Amino acid sequence: MEVVILNNSASVAVYGATIIVELIRTKRNAVLGLATGSTPVALYQELARRYQEGSISFKEVITFNLDEYFDIKPDNPQSYRSYMNREFFDLIDINLANTHLPDARYGTHASQISSEYERAIKDVGGMDLQLLGIGTNGHIGFNEPTSSMVSRTRIKTLTRKTIKDNSRFFDKQGKQPHLAITMGIGSIMESRRVMLLATGERKACAIKNTIEGPVSAMCPASILQFHKQVIVIIDEAAAAELEHGEYYKWAYRQQQSLIEI
Ligand code: PGA
Repeated sequence: MEVVILNNSASVAVYGATIIVELIRTKRNAVLGLATGSTPVALYQELARRYQEGSISFKEVITFNLDEYFDIKPDNPQSYRSYMNREFFDLIDINLANTHLPDARYGTHASQISSEYERAIKDVGGMDLQLLGIGTNGHIGFNEPTSSMVSRTRIKTLTRKTIKDNSRFFDKQGKQPHLAITMGIGSIMESRRVMLLATGERKACAIKNTIEGPVSAMCPASILQFHKQVIVIIDEAAAAELEHGEYYKWAYRQQQSLIEI
């Protein structure tokens, strides 16, 4: 696992965006797994900025989002489809037909949605890079603690902690969904590369458990210790509880000097 600790959240966004831009430059029709939440917003803004200055095009890029609330209409402002259009897709030249989220409308069978989603990812050859945020409880996607480490896309019940963490996105009178369709941990692990971003002290404990804790279903992100190509990009606040923070910084500097040779 490569751990990159940067001074602040703005640097995390720029660093992550640069990795995505480099990937798209080598593969114009790259398949990206995308995430929602507060953390990736700055990364999407940075990617949009690079598109607007003419240094990258997303015309052939294909995307699959990690998750979508169950029983929410795509045009609901709180759906993850709306979030993605607003925060990213509407700002770039991506073909919306190439952007996918689980179609979690009421009345459709969760198991059917899930298997169709998995098939669609397979049909384009699997994901080149999966972008992840992390929950304060260590979840990735909506794979909450105790999720099976080999799970596939399916419906999940959110924990009270996640519902509370996400309540800031919903007004008090509005209905906040408690169910979501999420890629499974097994699905995420099949992505050829994984990039996890975390910023702020609220994430420090989950980051410690992910990088240095035992691999445990109590911290779903810890399974990433078993992935071949993971980069975790975090700011100083999210790195605060790491026991080996100095080592990761030193290893990063060594890597950089090798690149410069
Ligand atoms: P956040 O959510 O980026 O809004 O903190 C991350 C997550 O729950 O995966």
